[in-house]
Amino acid sequence: MAYDYDLFTIGAGSGGVRASRLLAAQGLRVAVAEERFLGGTCVNVGCVPKKLFVYASKVSEELAQAAGFGWTVGEGSFDWATLVRNKDAEIARLNQVYGRVLHASGCEVLRGRARLVGPHELEVTLADGEVRRVTAAKILVATGGTPRRPTERGTERAWISDDVFYAERRPERLLVVGGGYIALEMACVFHGLGSQVTLAARGAHLLRGFDDDVRAFVLEEVRKRGVDVRLNTKVECIEPTDGGQVAMLSHEESLEVDEVLYAIGRDPNTRGLGLEEVGVQLNERGAVVVDAHYKTTVDHIFALGDVTDRLNLTPVAIEEAIVLARNLTTDGPPGALDYDHVPTAVFSQPPVACVGLTEAQARERADEVHVYTSEFRPMKNTLGGSAGRTFMKIVVDAASDRVLGVHIAGDDGPEIIQGFAVALKCGATKAQLDATVGLHPTAAEELVTMRERRPD
Ligand code: FAD
Ligand code: NDP
Repeated sequence: MAYDYDLFTIGAGSGGVRASRLLAAQGLRVAVAEERFLGGTCVNVGCVPKKLFVYASKVSEELAQAAGFGWTVGEGSFDWATLVRNKDAEIARLNQVYGRVLHASGCEVLRGRARLVGPHELEVTLADGEVRRVTAAKILVATGGTPRRPTERGTERAWISDDVFYAERRPERLLVVGGGYIALEMACVFHGLGSQVTLAARGAHLLRGFDDDVRAFVLEEVRKRGVDVRLNTKVECIEPTDGGQVAMLSHEESLEVDEVLYAIGRDPNTRGLGLEEVGVQLNERGAVVVDAHYKTTVDHIFALGDVTDRLNLTPVAIEEAIVLARNLTTDGPPGALDYDHVPTAVFSQPPVACVGLTEAQARERADEVHVYTSEFRPMKNTLGGSAGRTFMKIVVDAASDRVLGVHIAGDDGPEIIQGFAVALKCGATKAQLDATVGLHPTAAEELVTMRERRPD
C-alpha cells in the first residue's frame, strides 16, 4: 500500500523535531503535527524560559553583593512585565528557528492535533478547523508530558508550571507545592525576584532520587537564603479570601498567599491519541511502553521522550531521536542509547548537579564504597558577604577505584558537571582525578584535590 508519508510524527518538541528533521533530511517523506508550539515543552514552558527566569532571579543576589566589591548601586527595582515580554520575544524567535529548521530539512509541518484512527491512519484537526486524514508507513509518538493537576478542593485556580510563564503579575506571596525539580527551581526563582515564598513538600526530604547528603545540604541552604520550606506538609484545600487565598495545610496550619503553584509531577500525553485502540500498550502511569529501540507493542509505531516517562530530560529525548533516526535508516542490528552517566541539574539557588550514582545506589551495587566530600564558602562570597556555601561529593568503587558518582550543590555546579560526565563515561578512576592538575582559582578544582576519604 502507498502511504502519504514514510513517517508521521505526533509532537514537535525536543524529540519529535530532531527525529523528523533528521529523517526528512535523509529523503524520507516526513510530516510532523504540533498542536501548541514548535519546540515543545523545553522551548516554550520548560528549560529555556525557566533558565531565563533563573538568570533574572539571580540579579538580586549580584546586587546585594555589589557593595562588598566597592560598587554603589542605586536602589534596584524589578519589573515582571518586562521580563515576561522579553522572554516572549526570545521564545518567538526560537519558535521561528524551529519552523525554519523543519522546513529546510524537507519536513511538512501540520499545525493541529493529531490522533490515530487506524494502525497506519491519522486524523489531524488543523488550527483552522479543517480535519485532514493522512496515512503513514511509520508513526512516531513524541507527545511529551503535561503538568499534573491537583484534585483538592479549591485548587481549580491554582497555577501549574505552564501558568508561571504567562502570569500577568508576580505574586508577593507564593505557596509552591511539591519537592521536586520544578518546585525547587520555581521557589528559588520567585524568592530571587522578591516574593515571599513558602514551599510545602509532602515528604521528609526534597529532591527524591538525589544523593541524601546533597538533599540535606540544599534544604539547609535554600532555607538559609529565605525560602520557608515546610516538610511533611500537605495542602488539604484552598479557600478564596478577599486579598488572595488561604491554603489549609496539614498540622492545622493555614497560610494566606496570592498564588499557589503546584509542581507535583507530569503525566505522559497519551489521552485521546487512539493508541490503545490500535494495540499500543500503555503502562499504569499512562506512558507508552517501548523496547530499547523505541518500538512500541505495534511494530511500525515508535515513541520516545517524556511520553515514555523514563528520564524526562531534553537531551535524553534528543539523543533518543538521534538513535531512532539512525535505526530507521541503516541496516543491521538497531542501536540503543546508553542511559548511564546522564548528568542532570536542578537550577535552584544553590543549583544541584550530579552524574552517576548516589552514595546509596553505589552501596547497593558495590562491595565497598569510598566517599570524598568537601564543603566550603565560595571565594566570591567572602567579599560579597553571602553566607551561601558549596558542597561536593565523589563516590568511588573501592575495588576498581572507578568514580561512580559526582555531586555538587553550589554555584556553577551545572557548568562543572558536564565535563565530569565525560570523565565518568570514559571510566575515570579516583587516581586519575588526583593526577589531574586543578585550575585555580575555581570551585571545580576542589573535585581534583579531594584526598581525604570520609570515614565510613
Ligand atoms: P515535549 O517537549 O513536551 O514535546 C511534545 C509536543 O507534542 C508538545 O509541543 C505538544 O504540544 C505536542 N503534542 C502533544 N500531543 C499532541 C497531539 N495529539 N497532536 C499534536 N501535537 C501534540 N529538561 C532538561 O533537560 N533541563 C531543564 O532545565 C528542564 N527544565 C524544565 C522545566 C520545566 C518547567 C519543565 C516542565 C520541564 C523541564 N525539562 C527540563 C524537561 C524537558 O522540557 C522535557 O524533558 C522535554 O521537553 C521532553 O521533550 P519531548 O519531545 O519528549 O516532549
Ligand atoms: P518531580 O517528579 O521532580 O517531583 C514531583 C514532586 O511532587 C515530588 O516532590 C513529589 O513528592 C511531589 N508530589 C507528587 N504528587 C504529589 C501530591 N499529590 N501532592 C503533593 N506533592 C506531590 O516532578 P516535577 O513536576 O518537579 O518535574 C517533572 C519532571 O520534569 C522532572 O522529574 C524532570 O524529569 C523534568 N524537569 C527537569 C528539570 C531540569 O532538568 N532542571 C527542571 C524541571 C523539570 P515525593 O518525592 O514525596 O513523591
